[in-house]
Amino acid sequence: MPPHCPNRHCPHYLDPRDFAWQPYGSFRRRSDDRHFQCFRCRKCRRRFSIRTFQGDYWLRRRDAYPHVLAWACEGPGLRQAGRVLQLHHSTLMRHLARGGRQALLYHYSRLRDRNVVEPVAIDGFESFEFSQYFPFHLNLAAGLRSWFIYGFTESPLRRKGRMTAKQKLRRAELERTLGCPDPKAIQRGMTELLDLVFRGLKQECTSPRGLEVHSDEHPAYPPALRLFTRTSGHRLDHYVTPGSAPRTLDNPLFPVNLADLLLRHGQANHRRETIAFSKRRQGAIERAALFLVWRNFVKSRQENRPGPTAAMLAGLAAIPLRWGEFVQRRLFPRAENLPGPTWEFYWARIKTAIYGTKQRTHELRHAF
Ligand SMILES: [Zn+2]
Repeated sequence: MPPHCPNRHCPHYLDPRDFAWQPYGSFRRRSDDRHFQCFRCRKCRRRFSIRTFQGDYWLRRRDAYPHVLAWACEGPGLRQAGRVLQLHHSTLMRHLARGGRQALLYHYSRLRDRNVVEPVAIDGFESFEFSQYFPFHLNLAAGLRSWFIYGFTESPLRRKGRMTAKQKLRRAELERTLGCPDPKAIQRGMTELLDLVFRGLKQECTSPRGLEVHSDEHPAYPPALRLFTRTSGHRLDHYVTPGSAPRTLDNPLFPVNLADLLLRHGQANHRRETIAFSKRRQGAIERAALFLVWRNFVKSRQENRPGPTAAMLAGLAAIPLRWGEFVQRRLFPRAENLPGPTWEFYWARIKTAIYGTKQRTHELRHAF
């Protein structure tokens, strides 16, 4: 049964009440000679099939799709995974972009209208796109008790650290032609992250002491937290743990430090000295969305003690998720399910400066 009209311009896309459809023939898939029921919306007259509501619609290599998503979180670069799965790397890239969009919808729609009832640790994970002249931060927030990663935002940065005279010249030349990244990008990214995590939160639902946020001593965090409390009206207590403190289980930043480690360990594009680095920040964002689903919903919280996932401990899932289930039901974009910058992530509107203005965003070939 079609749950709603898939046409984004039809009123029954958002509101499935009184959604009326009629059977409208069927179509035959040539690859395996299977027949699928088709329907027509009585309101907008758009024709669609039952495949429209499946996560692997329009995929030729739908058999490989869940495996591509699994491999993307387990270490190999795209070409390496492609050789194992016998897929061209451009096919993998399309599968990952689709999986990343589905992951954003899966993660944030589960968080919708939920209260974060645990202290949260925040941190910036550093990586780069295209070349080391274009570093960026993925700002992460993880729950202290469940280790659930509540969300991420991105902040493009200026290259810093030790550079030769030639490298400094190159940086100046790039900044002249492409512009300099916003010096307050980390502050902006972190405020966006706090908005994302604590949106819709009712103050009375949290501890009487207010929200509890832990971070290291990064100078951009206190102004970001102040801006968040001023605009949201929430009370928030900020606890600082020095970055030099031992990174053990007793460290309040442990869950977010572990997320950093897993991200660098499991995703080839973030590994040090790799040739599999991200060519576009948008690609890194799509893979980070898949990482969120893998870390929160698929993987056991602790590897040596297989058991509940982070999502189960955060009260957001009852059982672990398998990639096969993840791709079964297609999720449709609704602005209220994708808060703040994640709407831009979904439509692939994050630009890599060096590629200029001509960059592909995610457009729909049909209305759905
Ligand atoms: Zn319709």
